[in-house]
Amino acid sequence: MLIPVIGLEIHLQLKTKSKMFCSCPAHDVGASPNTNVCAVCLGNPGTLPVPNEQAIRFGTMMGLALNCTIAAHSKFDRKNYFYPDLPKAYQISQFDLPIASNGYLEVEVPDAERKVVCIGITRAHLEEDAAKNVHAEDGKTYVDFNRGGTPLIEIVTEPDFTSPKETKVFLQELQRIARYLGISSADMEKGNMRCDGNISLREIDADGNVIGARFNPKTEVKNMNSFRHVERALEYEIKRQTKLWEDGTPVTVSTTRGWNDEKGVTEPQRSKEDAADYRYFPEPDIPPLNLTDLAEELRLIMPELPAARRARFVEEYGLKSPDAAQICDDPALADFTEATFSELQEWLSSQEGDLDWEAEKPKMAKLVSGWLLSKLGGLMMERSIDIRICKISPENFAEFITLIATSKLNGTAGLKVLNAMLDAGSSPTHLMEDLKLGTMEDAGILADVVDRVLEGHQEEVLRYQAGEEKLLPFFVGLVMKETQGTADPGVTRNMLLVKLKS
Ligand code: ADP
Ligand code: ZN
Ligand code: MG
Repeated sequence: MLIPVIGLEIHLQLKTKSKMFCSCPAHDVGASPNTNVCAVCLGNPGTLPVPNEQAIRFGTMMGLALNCTIAAHSKFDRKNYFYPDLPKAYQISQFDLPIASNGYLEVEVPDAERKVVCIGITRAHLEEDAAKNVHAEDGKTYVDFNRGGTPLIEIVTEPDFTSPKETKVFLQELQRIARYLGISSADMEKGNMRCDGNISLREIDADGNVIGARFNPKTEVKNMNSFRHVERALEYEIKRQTKLWEDGTPVTVSTTRGWNDEKGVTEPQRSKEDAADYRYFPEPDIPPLNLTDLAEELRLIMPELPAARRARFVEEYGLKSPDAAQICDDPALADFTEATFSELQEWLSSQEGDLDWEAEKPKMAKLVSGWLLSKLGGLMMERSIDIRICKISPENFAEFITLIATSKLNGTAGLKVLNAMLDAGSSPTHLMEDLKLGTMEDAGILADVVDRVLEGHQEEVLRYQAGEEKLLPFFVGLVMKETQGTADPGVTRNMLLVKLKS
């Protein structure tokens, strides 16, 4: 049997104010071409590169997040190649002494054979981005040097993936980590997260033992601009290479191919240079780095990472795993949820009786995730807003949840109140009163409504009493309508059952 062997190389643009080796602004996408440039990033002779401290900090944070060893001795090197987007004719990168090495990242792959996979991280190093070639309509190619010199971290994984799905899940987790650390916006569509996929096949027997070579020549796939592209391109490569293998002509030399998403195929590209062609040598203008102290300093202030936060949301708030994952996908939503739960805990401890959090947790978690993800999520989607600009504060949302939890608001009325909260940003209790949406607590009034409804539908009452019990929801519906949704459906149902018997 043939199984895929996949390793990834990922570039992330680091979200620093200035470029990697000069003070030009980085990430100024709105700027006119070739305005954010200086003698250093244009590679004028005699200029001196000065490493960006923030980029080094960001890179080290990523190294720590990926469980890497942070280098006590790291240096920059010149990687020589001749191309219009590289004005110095070399890129300042790192060759044999990267800032971080020998790490790993565990990811959970839903509905897969290998549920949790541990992917080895070979290394992570810092470098500068090349300029951008713009292929214009006049058939000419122009170069915009604004991007040239933007700080990048390159992360290289071990060839530990065995399916395209695993690579997708890994990249999504890496994106979350970068965002949690605040070091990169890590958006593949915008090109600030880029990924090359290396793939080969390996033959194994029924017991999983490798037959023949452990590693075969690989294909490096480039030009994938979304998670989906990565998954599709690697799936295509598996099919292509399997066919070659079956035809008796397996891949014998490593090559580079580009993903063509429109055609859904990979196409041959210029063959890749190997390290010798790049004539790497140490960058003489930048002293080596010892990152030991920095790593110790950063280790103490590292934010909680997505995996830890998800686990804590399950443990501390009783959320279901998929809900915790969905919430923690967006740090702002996770913050909102956390603040909501803290309000709820406070509210619970102020209630009379011995309501304790552990006992109430499952109920609260269900209410919060349901109302937050499906209901509020849906309403925000309709309005094209997200939690960052949502007018509802965690305090008000928590108060809303308590109204539902204590049956002061039912589901139908709750949705109306939530809608009003989104528009007005005010307290649910006030809105509920303004809109007269509170659950009808006066049993006398409800009884009158029930009587009225039954009187008005004598025929149906007789049918019900003759055994047509499926009419009950019909009566409940009428009462809800009469009360503009403020009746408690459970109480209504019970009252109807009693009255219909007599
Ligand atoms: P290169 O010679 O292209 O620089 P490297 O050994 O530096 O190759 O590895 C680059 C990437 O390719 C890494 O992510 C690594 O995991 C992956 N890789 C290496 N060998 C293989 C292979 N035989 N099949 C699939 N991926 C591989
Ligand atoms: Zn510059
Ligand atoms: Mg290499």
